[in-house]
Amino acid sequence: ERPEIGSGMRTKAIMETYGLTFKKSLGQNFLTDLNVLKKIVLAADVSLDDDVIEIGPGIGALTEQLAKKAHKVLALEIDERLIPVLKETLADYSNVIVIRADILAVQLSELIKEHFDGKHQVKIVANLPYYITTPIVLHLLDEEADFKSITVMMQKEVAQRLTAKPGTKDYGSLTVGVAYSTDSEIAFFVPKTVFVPSPKVDSAIVSMKKRIPQKYQPQNEVEFKNLVRGSFMHKRKSLWNNLLGLYGKEKNIKSKLTLALADAQISPGVRAERLNVADFVRLSDCLLEQGL
Ligand code: SAM
Repeated sequence: ERPEIGSGMRTKAIMETYGLTFKKSLGQNFLTDLNVLKKIVLAADVSLDDDVIEIGPGIGALTEQLAKKAHKVLALEIDERLIPVLKETLADYSNVIVIRADILAVQLSELIKEHFDGKHQVKIVANLPYYITTPIVLHLLDEEADFKSITVMMQKEVAQRLTAKPGTKDYGSLTVGVAYSTDSEIAFFVPKTVFVPSPKVDSAIVSMKKRIPQKYQPQNEVEFKNLVRGSFMHKRKSLWNNLLGLYGKEKNIKSKLTLALADAQISPGVRAERLNVADFVRLSDCLLEQGL
């Protein structure tokens, strides 16, 4: 019996056997703590009813723990050096498929159709490459793909921004974007010492559960997202000033904005950080009614 991939000993042996070096540019900080790895799988609530998509398997530490619990695991790794390594380290698990891919370039709905049977719930689990955490989360949330939840490790500060409450300094357009379609929370924090090499920052596991059916239904989703982004453009400015930046400063626009804000019962003097998702949805619909 070989020790599990996530043990420090085995990780070291694999790195030496294949002459591998860590690529900083790809965010390669591998987890070498079996307790943490198992806790991630527990937080993601993975069972035989689930198919899992893993982003960035590395040498397979998390993949192995997922494979023990899931029906099937599809792991997407960008670093081609790791593909033959994963083939060997995960050889005992017939329910794992590894493909070389850039998560930001793939269409998840297509991959799901191609590799899964449609009879299992799809869950996304990863220890993310931190240099692209935000683009990955936005890419996943933007997908029409039919998945149930996202459970991912990220830098602690980003985790706090994703799960912030209105009125706090961490609250921003990213928070609203996540809260729009998911119920999210920080599952637990992870110290930097459990990775090799150890990153400069502490980490946290964030769990995002897609709300089905959707709770918020703006009349025009593109305009809604545009409004949210624009409202936080200058975080210290009032909502009013950001709206002028977004829609224009002409007199007729100002009167339409005033009417829309009154309709939505939102004071022009507030900052965007005070508004929750429902406020933004209401405002977006009222702006649309004014033809903005
Ligand atoms: N899952 C492993 C673990 O927990 O030890 C490795 C996690 S490491 C933080 C991030 C992994 O994501 C690396 O293996 C890296 O090569 C991979 N990666 C980086 N950018 C990627 C991308 N755009 N698409 C897919 N994988 C990527």
